Amino acid sequence: SQGNSLASRDVKSLIHSYTNLSAHEKEGPLIIETGKGIYVYDDNGKEYIEGLAGLWCTSFGFGEQELIDAAIRQMHKLPYYHSFASKSTEPGILLAEKLLEIAPGNLSKVFFANSGSEANDTVVKLVWYYNNSRGLPKKKKIISRQKAYHGVTVAAASMTGLPPLHNDFDLPIQNILHTSCPHYYRFGKDGESEEDFATRMATELEELILREGPDTVAAFIAEPVMGAGGVIVPPKGYFQKIQAVLKKYDVLMVADEVICGFGRTGNMWGSETLGIQPDILSCAKALSSAYLPIAAVLVSEDIFRGMVKQSEKHGAFAHGYTYSGHPVPAAVALRTLELMEERNMVEHVQAIAPLFEKRFQALADHPLVGEVRVCGLVGAVELVADKATRQSFDPSLGLAANAVKAMQDAGLIARAVAGDNVALCPPLIITEDQINDMFDKFEQGLNAVLPLAQK
Ligand code: PLP
Repeated sequence: SQGNSLASRDVKSLIHSYTNLSAHEKEGPLIIETGKGIYVYDDNGKEYIEGLAGLWCTSFGFGEQELIDAAIRQMHKLPYYHSFASKSTEPGILLAEKLLEIAPGNLSKVFFANSGSEANDTVVKLVWYYNNSRGLPKKKKIISRQKAYHGVTVAAASMTGLPPLHNDFDLPIQNILHTSCPHYYRFGKDGESEEDFATRMATELEELILREGPDTVAAFIAEPVMGAGGVIVPPKGYFQKIQAVLKKYDVLMVADEVICGFGRTGNMWGSETLGIQPDILSCAKALSSAYLPIAAVLVSEDIFRGMVKQSEKHGAFAHGYTYSGHPVPAAVALRTLELMEERNMVEHVQAIAPLFEKRFQALADHPLVGEVRVCGLVGAVELVADKATRQSFDPSLGLAANAVKAMQDAGLIARAVAGDNVALCPPLIITEDQINDMFDKFEQGLNAVLPLAQK
C-alpha cells in the first residue's frame, strides 16, 4: 500500500471489522470495485467468485437490476419515513404482510430493524417485555449455545458463543447463558451414537434449566444451522428433543434465521429444514439480498398481545430505530421476496444443492479435511492435522486462513471461520458450471497449503 493509493488511504483512515489490525496496517485491503452475478472484481480488474455471497447474504448476486430499480423507484417516491408514533409507509406494510405469508408456524406480527444484531437485541428486549406482561419478572434468562453467532451489539454479542466476541468487551451481560454446541464430530463421546449425542444435548439443556430454576429461564435462541461458528449442522432429531425440553419449562424458542432464512438450506426457512417451530424469528441479510440494510423480528400473536398490554401500561412500546421499516430497504426486500417466487429460487436451490453437496463430500478424501458439513447451499470443511484422532492444527499455523489466501489468488473468495474451518455460502443464483469452477478453485487453495501442513 504505497503513496496515495486507495489502499494506503484505507490504512490511514479506516477501522476494519474481524481484521488483524496490525497485519492490515502492513498488508492493506483488497478493494472490490464492481460486481456482476456471482463475481466481484477488484481495483486491478481481477475476477473472484464470491463464494460466501459477501457475508452469507447477497442471495441474488451482484447487479440484480430489479432490486436496483426497486430502490430507485422508492427513492423518488419517498426516500425516507419512519414508523414511530403510528406513522407508516406502504413498503413496510407490504413487506410485513409478505413475511407473514411465508413465515413458518404461527408468527403473526413483524418488527423491523436494520441488522441481524439489532434484530437479536430486539429479541432480548421483547422476551423480557413479554414476561413482564405475564407477571413473570424473574423469568429473564436467555440460553444460547457455544459457537453460536448472533451479532455484535451488547446483548447480541452476549448471546454469541465465540470467546473472541466476549474477550476484553466485558461480555456476556447477566441473564445470558450458553449450553453445549451440537457438533457431533467435535463433542460426541467415544461410542456415542449421533442420536444419543442429540439426546445428551437436550439433557444438558434440561439440567441447565433446572440448575438455574425454570422460573428464571425465558428463551432459547439458535441458528438452525450455525454459520460463523463453523457451519455446524446439528444431528437428526436435535431440535425435536430440544423443543420438548423448552415446552416442558415454558421457555420460548427463538430461531435466528439471519443466515438460514430465504432459501439457503433448500427451504424458505432453516426452521423448515431442521424441524423448528419458533415463537420468535429474526432475519436479515438475504431478506434484501443485502442490497440495503434491513432486518426483521417476527413474533407470535401471544407475544404481541403481551406487548400491547405493556404498551398500554407504559403509554408506548418504547423501542425502535430511526430506520425501522425504512421504505427504501423495505421496497428492495419486498422485491427480493417477489423475485424469489417469480424465479422459483427455492426450487433452484433444491435442484443444484446435490452437486454442491457432492463436490463438498468429495473433499472428505483430501489429506487436510477432517469433516465436511453441508446443508443446502452452505457448507464448510474442517481442516485437521490427523484425520484418525481429529487433532487440530497448531493455531499459529493459520492453516485455514492461508488456504483462503491461496483461494483468493486462484480467484475465489471463501472464508475461514471459528478456527480451521473454510466455509462456502455462494449466491443462490449460482449455476452448476459455476459450482464446479468454485470447487476447483477451492481445492487448488487446499492443495496450496499442503506443504505448510506437513511442516
Ligand atoms: N445472526 C446470525 C446467524 C449471523 O450470521 C449474523 C451475522 O453474520 C448476525 C446475527 C448479525 O447480523 P449483523 O452483522 O447484520 O448485525
